Amino acid sequence: MQGFGTTIFAEMTALAVRTGAINLGQGFPDSPGPEAMLERAVAAIRAGDNQYPPGPGVPELREAVARQRVERYGLGYDPDGEVLVTVGATEAIAAAILALAGPGDEVVVFEPYYDSYAAMIALAGAVRRPVTLRPEGGRFTFDPGELRAAVGPRTRLILVNSPHNPVGTVFTRAELEVIADVCREHDLTAVTDEVYEYLTFDGAGHVPLASLEGMRERTVAISSAGKTFSATGWKVGWITAPAPYVRAVQTVKQFLTYTASAPYQRAVAYALGHELGWVQGLRKSLEAKRDRLVAGLEAAGFTAYRPQGTYFVQADIRPLGFTDGMELARALPERAGVVAVPSQVFYDHAAAGAHFLRFAFCKRDHVIDEAVERLAELR
Ligand SMILES: *Cc1c(COP(=O)(O)O)cnc(C)c1O
Repeated sequence: MQGFGTTIFAEMTALAVRTGAINLGQGFPDSPGPEAMLERAVAAIRAGDNQYPPGPGVPELREAVARQRVERYGLGYDPDGEVLVTVGATEAIAAAILALAGPGDEVVVFEPYYDSYAAMIALAGAVRRPVTLRPEGGRFTFDPGELRAAVGPRTRLILVNSPHNPVGTVFTRAELEVIADVCREHDLTAVTDEVYEYLTFDGAGHVPLASLEGMRERTVAISSAGKTFSATGWKVGWITAPAPYVRAVQTVKQFLTYTASAPYQRAVAYALGHELGWVQGLRKSLEAKRDRLVAGLEAAGFTAYRPQGTYFVQADIRPLGFTDGMELARALPERAGVVAVPSQVFYDHAAAGAHFLRFAFCKRDHVIDEAVERLAELR
């Protein structure tokens, strides 16, 4: 792990605390999740539900996840054997990569990538093969030729994050077909990170890769309650996959954490069954916040890419005369009283991302307004 150091989120959040700047760096919401879900967790704790739950997860959460996948996407999974509850999506990603990639194996990732992917690929002794997402027609996408070129005889896995953090792209069916083709052709396993599955805008719908022809059998799908229910501190995630994959991932998971937090699992099971209306409201409110932040960033002089999902905006700093996002991110709290994350830390080809900052909009309106007012002073 030499070379990984402290995550950029820790560094930037510490900077926000030290300078009193508005933190649009780390992507956690500043409003609570559905009230009844929170009450369920309290009730579960008071009812004494405080000991190790079963390793695969409490039955009612596995059943709720299976029901959600079939009702929303038509994808059937057996709650006994094809669903595994994890400590957030983060542990699901870790256990899946450790289970499915070994020393010298290659893992294809789209860059910019979520930072834990690179760390877990390194811990597995595997090698990452990045494919760059670039702006084209107002959104970020990949070149199918580059994807094909990244796959070789040692490639075992491809990690697919859609809706994508940080670029905000929701892959279209056509883009997913290209990925599926490559997987089928080269017998690859896909690990899909779908934690923003509900947070899509402008009618862009999330399509799980597993729903494409021939992909269910080769896909380990990951999601989590953190983003959907504004409970990022609960760390309740899950995978859905064919039984042999779930067994492999659980074999690793049992030695990472053995099991996950009992009372929160019960509360999330309730929320998946009863609070999707609340999530619809969250989605609507985030769509408006996105527009608010994009308009503010544009007024401040950035080129802002309007995301189709997640709660992040990529902003190009070059129109303001800057070129180095890392330098600007470190100076921004003092200069403007705002914290953002330099996107280049999510790239292998740092030059491809050097001029982007990532701003989060899962914040109260007055916080966003104050941040963009301050950013307007940069000019
Ligand atoms: C937040 C996030 C995660 C981590 O999810 P947890 O459930 O909090 O562990 C994983 N992937 C992406 C892309 C994320 O943004």
